[in-house]
Amino acid sequence: MFSAILIDKTDAGLQVALTRLDEAQLPEGDVTIAVEFSTLNYKDGLAITGKGPVVRKYPMVPGIDLAGTVTESSHADWKAGDRVVLNGWGVGEGHWGGLAQKARLKGDWLVPLPHAFTPRQAMAIGTAGYTASLSVEALLAAGVAPGQGEILVTGATGGVGSVAIALLAKAGFTVVAATGKAAEEAYLKALGATSVVDRGELSTPGKPFQKERWAGAIDSVGSTTLANICAATKYGGAVAACGLAGGSDFPSSVMPFILRGVRLLGVDSVMAPKPARIAAWARLARDLDPAALETIATEIPLGEAIAAAAKLMDGTVRGRFVVDVNR
Ligand code: NDP
Repeated sequence: MFSAILIDKTDAGLQVALTRLDEAQLPEGDVTIAVEFSTLNYKDGLAITGKGPVVRKYPMVPGIDLAGTVTESSHADWKAGDRVVLNGWGVGEGHWGGLAQKARLKGDWLVPLPHAFTPRQAMAIGTAGYTASLSVEALLAAGVAPGQGEILVTGATGGVGSVAIALLAKAGFTVVAATGKAAEEAYLKALGATSVVDRGELSTPGKPFQKERWAGAIDSVGSTTLANICAATKYGGAVAACGLAGGSDFPSSVMPFILRGVRLLGVDSVMAPKPARIAAWARLARDLDPAALETIATEIPLGEAIAAAAKLMDGTVRGRFVVDVNR
């Protein structure tokens, strides 16, 4: 038997509880993992609170991320004792996920735990941090380079935003953080932001073509914010769009794209191919200061994950929850 968060949907509505499950109930897969740490991503918040259509079948163990040790494997790449990380691939949505002491899944979905990190640190990064790293890779691949001007990071105190600031600063960029939490200016500057702007400046509808300011941006907010960012991006700049914390709409015009050659770069972490994952984790291992991770992460036991998911959805949380599934 093992402990897990389980989401079920019946005629009575959505039920979410910490429960005990039998190993025989684990889904099919060629690798079984003793999970050490998981985490709470925005998507896990949507799944646990039922605020978004994340879960595709019930009952479901949520948790789109996990880090742990292989206990059984019939997959050629993995053997018992290997330390692994899982991000995405529909885990916690259509396949039982990481908010549990055990998981069984496809070995093809796993990457090795980078030597630089403990399982706890890898989960302090989680899909949010790995997506931040994918976004930095996307900006660099589009030719955005330090010295071209300011890079804007929105949703700055969130998981994606916090790690994006740290990675961009380490890569030599001048980073401007947009936040709704003015009181967190010191936190954002400690991560590497050079200045902080009120997110309200970006969330009210603006002109389709604005004064050029940003050499690039990593946006986890979407909606009017993303439209305003594109409208104020410099000639030839690029914007990595990876989130929808402010809404999934995109009330923009084509003007920045056709008159300034601005590039809008979509970033997806869930189905990203393995080489992109390995590169993103390598950047994190190289550039992310473990001390910065400590300021980003708040550790909670598995039993507190349900309450923490509701807080995450309020948008009041700073940084990331890391979940000790064995506590
Ligand atoms: P968090 O909840 O940790 O952070 C989101 C942050 O966005 C908040 O802390 C807040 O920051 C800001 N925010 C919240 N509500 C609003 C609002 N209504 N308007 C403007 N800003 C708001 O989430 P994550 O960082 O983990 O994820 C951010 C987004 O990225 C989510 O939409 C998530 O689904 C998406 N995502 C996408 C991935 C992909 O594969 N493309 C992977 C991972 C995440 P502040 O107070 O500082 O403004």
